[in-house]
Amino acid sequence: MALAPYAASDTTSRGRRFSESAPSYRSEYQRDRDRIIHSAAFRRLEYKTQVFVNHEGDMYRTRLTHSIEVAQISRSIARILSLNEDLMETIALAHDLGHTPFGHAGQDALNEAMGEHGGFEHNLQSLRVVDKLELRYADFAGLNLTFESREGILKHCSVKNARILGDVGERFLDKRQPSLEAQAVNLADEIAYNSHDVDDGLRSQLISIEQLCEVRLFRQQYDDVTQHYPGIEGRQLVHEIVRRIINSQVVDLVETSAARITAAAPSDMQAVRQRDEQLISFSEAMTELNLELKRFLRTHLYRHFRVHRMSTKATHIVKSLFDAFMNDVRLLPPEHQRILHNMEEARGARGRARAVADYVAGMTDRYAIREYERIYSASELT
Ligand code: MG
Repeated sequence: MALAPYAASDTTSRGRRFSESAPSYRSEYQRDRDRIIHSAAFRRLEYKTQVFVNHEGDMYRTRLTHSIEVAQISRSIARILSLNEDLMETIALAHDLGHTPFGHAGQDALNEAMGEHGGFEHNLQSLRVVDKLELRYADFAGLNLTFESREGILKHCSVKNARILGDVGERFLDKRQPSLEAQAVNLADEIAYNSHDVDDGLRSQLISIEQLCEVRLFRQQYDDVTQHYPGIEGRQLVHEIVRRIINSQVVDLVETSAARITAAAPSDMQAVRQRDEQLISFSEAMTELNLELKRFLRTHLYRHFRVHRMSTKATHIVKSLFDAFMNDVRLLPPEHQRILHNMEEARGARGRARAVADYVAGMTDRYAIREYERIYSASELT
């Protein structure tokens, strides 16, 4: 399919950090996507969660299924707007690679533990995974992805961190935009998690349809579905509503963005990057509806006492693991002890802490629970 002139393409790519010969039968971004899929961090997404702890039930989203849903929505948007589908798929599949076990509770706990050592931020960690932590190739550490994939993965960044990051950090200092592909995946992520948290929230019975009817975005689709299918109930009702919510957001996004792109008429990708404002966006009305849904989810789902109880445990586990490894590195597997010693030699206590954070962040939910038991439980003497 023909790409728009402002889409990312192999010919205008800013390339890879370590130069490699061009792939024979794939595009550069297909190669990036394939590298993500074969990475260890990608496989571990299967056992990491966002809201619900992994062993709570097989029906909830994990970070892996979330990433695949983001990729699906991204690919639809790419085709409609003639953007680079392979690049958008790459960014979508990679965007959560740096997440700790136990979702945001895990990230906050690790960030606090790393307070004196430069902090921890999952989005920055996603970039660290693809730039440094995956060890798969003889010629370089990391996956050596193209600039455009790395630019898309780094969604946000503090000025302090931007200064150390080099090329991908520049736009945060200059207050410029990333590619349209990166902008679109970012919003596809939002569409995916808002709608699947509604679905998982209902499934878990932490929230109810009656409560959700207070939210306009939900209510509109609820009225539409029940009008077309009187008597519909249960999972069919929920799924019909959720798919309509996704669809209405995608349609709003592509129509609003197409109009903005036409008005701005960027000649190429560089023109997109030079802008003060993003060209990919929801309409104002949809932004408002989205905010309302987010507020609802925050109050009724993310702060639900059962979710809070899980988060408290998760915080305790992550913090305890970090402390245990910091205080006694011999608790780490030998391979990680070697990595830690190298980092400590190069950067002192900061390097040591970063090595521990990398190790803990890489854990899946169940591995973290298991490791906590192995270290702290009196009944686990193996
Ligand atoms: Mg996400």
